[in-house]
Amino acid sequence: MSSLLLKQVIFKNQSVDIYIENNRIQKIDTTLSVHADECVDYKNQKTILPAFYNGHTHAAMTLLRGYADDLPLFEWLNNYIWPSEVKFTKKHIQVGTQLACLEMIHSGTVFFNDMYWHHPVVIKTATDMGLRVCSGPIFLDTLGSKSQKIQQIALKKFLQKYKTFSPTVIPSLGVHAIYSVYPKTLERLKKVLDDYDFFFHIHLSETQKEVEDCLKEHGCTPAEYLDKKGLLSPKTLIAHGIHLTKDELKLLADRGATVVHMPVSNMKLSNGFFDCTAANELGVNVILGTDGASSNNCLDMMGEMKTASLFAKHALQNVTAMPAQKVFHMATQAAAETFGLQAGVIEEGKLADAILVDLNNTRLVPGYNILSDMVYSADSSCIDSVICNGRFLMKNKQIKGEDAIIEKALRLKVGISE
Ligand SMILES: [Zn+2]
Repeated sequence: MSSLLLKQVIFKNQSVDIYIENNRIQKIDTTLSVHADECVDYKNQKTILPAFYNGHTHAAMTLLRGYADDLPLFEWLNNYIWPSEVKFTKKHIQVGTQLACLEMIHSGTVFFNDMYWHHPVVIKTATDMGLRVCSGPIFLDTLGSKSQKIQQIALKKFLQKYKTFSPTVIPSLGVHAIYSVYPKTLERLKKVLDDYDFFFHIHLSETQKEVEDCLKEHGCTPAEYLDKKGLLSPKTLIAHGIHLTKDELKLLADRGATVVHMPVSNMKLSNGFFDCTAANELGVNVILGTDGASSNNCLDMMGEMKTASLFAKHALQNVTAMPAQKVFHMATQAAAETFGLQAGVIEEGKLADAILVDLNNTRLVPGYNILSDMVYSADSSCIDSVICNGRFLMKNKQIKGEDAIIEKALRLKVGISE
């Protein structure tokens, strides 16, 4: 058992003490006289807020940050990203994921829903660095039969091992996209999902071309195609969903599926505007994600919240669209609950995931509305400390092992560009 006492932190404009035991927030009160293994006095200089939950990442792609930008999606994927990723070893994925975790911790994120090769490396890295992760084997048939065999082996091992994962790991099966896997693979995965209660994570309706190709090949739209395969459920996580029609959104709402909205990636790759407000009105659950660092190019949920709000206001010509409170909720409690976590809000009994934000940071002064400030003004420099599952991942901006990870990432960069 471990315990942590946070003294004199600002919570809802009041000074409080917060007692955390094991991984839960046990007590919040104006003053608490309780012994804890660790006690930190913030002297009313920091405010406590929920941490962020990133709905869609390719964490190890941090190693390709800035390697190829400003290109059309398929030219970018076929000529730059995929040829580089082929060279990735487990070492690259480990260091890339470590680098991603560092960046996420600095920017207040404690959970990421990842889609990448060598999921055991991703899971181990996230667990070692103290973050929560949703991950598992991924499928991409168009890489050839050798790769398909490797994917089958990875799935078999995953089914044997997933019960041994840390409680901070949420198992999932990932499919790159409907155009890169064969129908029989989707049918096989559906059978697995019938037997195991995993999340199902897929890029869907990201480009107009994907929609047109799906209509030509399958005679229906992408979401209808997934539904025909039995793959739309409350455990389905749809990355992007930009070109979903009104009927598809209604279908998603009926099935309880979630769309992960990634405005920065969508804008950067010029893929189009996802109308989150319209999706919500039709009953679709929408959370936020950053996508990988080569299409964003960072993993900062504060940047994602701001862009989600500004993109909606601009595209809809409506200044009231996607207000700060709404996007903050999407990045915190809504996302945590999507993944079945009792977290994303500072409340007694909830999982102890939190950030401590420096109220004296210039970006937060004078401080009329902390949620507005976090969405429209804050950046990583405002975040002093990060707690996940009851333990510090960052304290006074310090993360254990940071310099060594940066050094390793810098060395691997040379290997990729050669
Ligand atoms: Zn993606």
